[in-house]
Amino acid sequence: MTHRVTLIPGDGTGPEIMDVVRKVVDATGAQIDWEIAEAGSDVLSKYGTPLPEQVLQSIRKNKVAIKGPITTPIGTGFRSVNVALRKELDLYVCFRPCKSYAGVRSRFQNIDLIIVRENTEDLYAGIEWSSGAPEANQVIQLSGNKIRKDSAISIKPISKTGSARIARFAFDYALKNHRKKVTAVTKANIMKCTDGLFFDAAREVAKEYKGKIEYEERLIDNMCMQLVQKPELYDVMVLPNLYGDILSDLCAGLVGGLGVAPGANFGDEIALFEAIHGSAPKYTGLNKVNPSACLLSAKLMLDYLKEFEAAQKLEEAIQTVFAKGKDVTYDMKPFPNDPTAVGTREMGDAIIREMKVAVSAK
Ligand code: NAD
Repeated sequence: MTHRVTLIPGDGTGPEIMDVVRKVVDATGAQIDWEIAEAGSDVLSKYGTPLPEQVLQSIRKNKVAIKGPITTPIGTGFRSVNVALRKELDLYVCFRPCKSYAGVRSRFQNIDLIIVRENTEDLYAGIEWSSGAPEANQVIQLSGNKIRKDSAISIKPISKTGSARIARFAFDYALKNHRKKVTAVTKANIMKCTDGLFFDAAREVAKEYKGKIEYEERLIDNMCMQLVQKPELYDVMVLPNLYGDILSDLCAGLVGGLGVAPGANFGDEIALFEAIHGSAPKYTGLNKVNPSACLLSAKLMLDYLKEFEAAQKLEEAIQTVFAKGKDVTYDMKPFPNDPTAVGTREMGDAIIREMKVAVSAK
């Protein structure tokens, strides 16, 4: 069966990585009809927006998309295209598996953690006002002037609906994938209303899975420490947006860094696959960065498309290249300046070669 998939090359190092992704996925034998949709800072002058309407239309039509990283200017300029895509398409789940692979340098082994991050609410809601804005002043007045007059303000909305649906995704995933435990993580001791509500909602959902999936709660600060001391105690974690973002990077660090950390965003009908890492702009056009995180995201996509054989073939070939440690990019070598490091394209080619070897060995 042929699947029509929207491919967003992204900007910075995105296009060179996504060229490799397309070539490698095609080599798995899965029949993908790629529909290219451009977004990001490179198309701003062409379309007047970094997120042209046709990108959203393409994803809504095809229901499955894979995306290279997109740059977000800090402090000024357009809002994040990545956040806008998640909000526009109501991709409320940010799914980030963190798994150890042999050959990937890391302080830990045998990590197999799943992060389920709420993707649409929290401080990412985009409701914020600069210092001195009339709305900021109104909120300052509402607070009974407890807030300093020259403050900028960001609003943190957390809803029962949003919290319950993300918790339900985490428990469903745990059940379907033979996981044992879901840990909800917030800072509810301080943010009693918002984070307290998140815990309440997760606790309610947990009752539906009683006897099947264990449930526990942790505070985010303590969780950071626990994860670097005894990550083996954890399994599936569910978090509001900002904590989920931070803990994703922490967990990526546990398994060897951003170069090997994949991700997916799910709504009820649409899935968008992307790595955790950003556009690494300083390496643009240098054929230098690691394509593995995007390739492992493509593996998640193949599973989602029920192309299980292609997904397994791809993961095994990536694993073999990691384990051999020869045809890998600079970040996977013992030293960043290792002269034996290969480029993005060459690592992709090595993965394709391993897939061919595996097929001929059968
Ligand atoms: P980044 O992830 O782009 O890069 C940080 C550093 O990590 C790089 O300089 C590089 O040393 C390393 N790195 C990242 N990806 C790598 C890879 N594939 N292989 C090897 N090394 C890699 O983070 P940043 O510099 O904070 O962000 C750059 C831009 O990307 C920002 O505009 C940010 O907003 C954006 N961003 C986009 C996404 C997304 O598209 N989903 C995610 C995160 C950041």
